[in-house]
Amino acid sequence: IDPEETAIEGLVRSTLTLVENQALVKGVELQVEAAADLPLVTVDPGQIRSVLVNLVINALDATDPGGRIRVSVRSVPAASEGEGRGSGVEIAVSDTGVGIAPENIEKIFDPFYTTKEIGKGTGLGLSVSYGIVARHGGKITVESEVGRGSTFKVWLPAHRREE
Ligand code: ADP
Ligand code: MG
Repeated sequence: IDPEETAIEGLVRSTLTLVENQALVKGVELQVEAAADLPLVTVDPGQIRSVLVNLVINALDATDPGGRIRVSVRSVPAASEGEGRGSGVEIAVSDTGVGIAPENIEKIFDPFYTTKEIGKGTGLGLSVSYGIVARHGGKITVESEVGRGSTFKVWLPAHRREE
C-alpha cells in the first residue's frame, strides 16, 4: 500500500460521484452524511476508494428502485478499557435491500462467493476489500436482516503523528 494522510470526507464524497449516476438511473436514493470532527486517516486513497465503490455497488445490486443507500462517516473515540483499539473513523454503508441470510453471512467475504448471475459478479469484491482494510490496520463488519437490508461498516485507525 501507498499510504498518505487523507481527509476521509473528501475521499468518500469524490468516490460517490463515481456511482451516483448508477443510483439515479436505478431510482435508488443515495445519501451521504459526514460528521464535522473527523480525524485524518493514513490510507492508500485508490484502495479505499475501490472498497467503497464495491460496497456501494453491492448495495445497489441488492436494492430495488425506491430504496435507499446511506453512507455515513463518523469518528470513533479510542476504546477506554483493556487493550481496546485507538481512535478512528467508521464509514457505514447501509441499504434497504434484500439482506443476507444468517447462514450466508459467513461466506460473503470468501473469494468467489457470489449469488449473482454468471458474468454479473466475480465474488471477489468483498474478499479483496477485506484484505485492503486489514492491511490498513482496520476492520470491516456486517449486520444484515433478510427483507430489511444490510449495513457494512469499515473502521480505519486515525492518522498518528510521528513523535
Ligand atoms: P460480487 O459482488 O461479485 O457478487 P462480493 O464479494 O462483492 O462479490 O459480494 C459477495 C456476495 O455477498 C454477493 O454476491 C451477495 O450475495 C452478497 N452481498 C454483498 N453485499 C450485499 C448487500 N449489500 N446486500 C445483500 N447481499 C450482499
Ligand atoms: Mg461486489
